[in-house]
Amino acid sequence: MAEKADALVLGGGFAGLSCAVALAGKGKKVLVLDKKPHLGGRAYSFEEGGLEVDNGQHLFMGCYWETRKFLKAIGTHDRLDIYHDVVVDYAEAGGKRDRLSCPSWLPAPLHLAAGLLGLKGVSLKEKTALLGFDLALKSLKSGPIPPEVEALTVRQWLTGLGISRNFQTRFFDPAAIGILNDSPDIASAAGFIQALRQMFLTGRESSRFALAKTGLSALYTDAARDFIETRGGRVISNAKAASLIEEGGRVRGIKTDMDSRFEAGHVVSTLPPWDLKKLVLPASLRGPWETLKPAPIVGATFKIDKPVMSERFLGMLNTETHWVFNKTLIQNIKEPGQTLAVVISGAHKQIGWSPEKILDVAKRDLTSCIPEFASAKVLISKVVKEPFATLSPVPGDEAKRPEPGTGMPGFSFAGDWTRTGLPATIESACASGHAAAALL
Ligand SMILES: Cc1cc2nc3c(=O)[nH]c(=O)nc-3n(C[C@H](O)[C@H](O)[C@H](O)COP(=O)(O)OP(=O)(O)OC[C@H]3O[C@@H](n4cnc5c(N)ncnc54)[C@H](O)[C@@H]3O)c2cc1C
Repeated sequence: MAEKADALVLGGGFAGLSCAVALAGKGKKVLVLDKKPHLGGRAYSFEEGGLEVDNGQHLFMGCYWETRKFLKAIGTHDRLDIYHDVVVDYAEAGGKRDRLSCPSWLPAPLHLAAGLLGLKGVSLKEKTALLGFDLALKSLKSGPIPPEVEALTVRQWLTGLGISRNFQTRFFDPAAIGILNDSPDIASAAGFIQALRQMFLTGRESSRFALAKTGLSALYTDAARDFIETRGGRVISNAKAASLIEEGGRVRGIKTDMDSRFEAGHVVSTLPPWDLKKLVLPASLRGPWETLKPAPIVGATFKIDKPVMSERFLGMLNTETHWVFNKTLIQNIKEPGQTLAVVISGAHKQIGWSPEKILDVAKRDLTSCIPEFASAKVLISKVVKEPFATLSPVPGDEAKRPEPGTGMPGFSFAGDWTRTGLPATIESACASGHAAAALL
């Protein structure tokens, strides 16, 4: 079937939908294609035993400006709860607690400094290293991260700044693994610095945490589809691109694996690198980006018969499981008991485990950090494994990320993994989608 659109957007995740919405908003006739039966890419939800389960808990930040712009455009901004307080609670074995609480009356980044000074598990002597950290971060306030810093892992960068291993374990490591989805021993310092400066050096609002009050799909997929379709665009699921059509040095459209041909004035690909490289592509699009590798995330959702935590989320220290989220509170679910979602990021080891083993480990860690969990009865549990969750941001990879909107005549790269100046997150996805749309 021949189709002709102004723009064909490959991929219906945050990048593709934000790009298509921006283009449709400018009056362009847009066609979105996705190989899956549902929209949302790596951020979606589904139902399991009466529970709405995200494919993995997603944390947003106040500094997700491009994401917020996208949600405003489709009218679902109010489904994102942006919390006023900047507070992170940590739990460790025996139920011991610590808290990062950044006073609301202090401007950024002083509020973070005050919060860090208040951590109980880090000595005053260890905290003096914050001066060097502050200076280093401010010296990298904007622009590209210098190659000599990008060549370092998060661990090497922090250790070089005199941050003790204990301080790293109690604050920097949980933050780094949450943001970068890989161990600080593997991940490049570049993405960590990009995120920290965005969160803490661009005003207090930027450092606020935000979570969806609904399942991820309800946050954006249907509203984005409606926005596009009511403006004359089309969104087609179960359509897998297999090759780009190139004629006269210009990309003219795509062919699917079922040999359907879709033509368009321009093609924007938001496919992750590991999917895009499988397509038949013009030689000029091939490049070092094809060697970018994914990092997995493993998550589990538990519905239990009684409440065991009162916080929105907890960082778990010195455990295999990194974070636990209180879905009942976050989504204001009217239910007896409680629904918890746990996350293991950078889960290279755990991705091959059976769901039973993942649940056992998560229950062990929850019992250790939240002793009340031991007496709770698990009513429903669901494990989700995402082997291709995000880019594994190792040193040297920044230069391999093509800039969003670049490519060749008739074709642009986009997606969270493109070089947006941010780690590969939802915000990077939306920034890339908007950048590609603006350049069309
Ligand atoms: C479990 C988990 C937890 C996460 N937690 C966070 C978090 O807390 N905060 C945060 O900011 N980010 C988080 N992320 C990352 C975030 O989900 C991604 O950065 C974002 O969703 C990427 O969006 P995207 O549109 O760039 O890519 P995708 O969502 O991957 O979209 C690409 C789309 O392309 C489609 N596609 C692939 N190949 C083809 C083909 N040949 N033809 C047609 N379509 C194709 C796919 O089906 C997909 O829908 C997490 C990711 C996971 C998996």
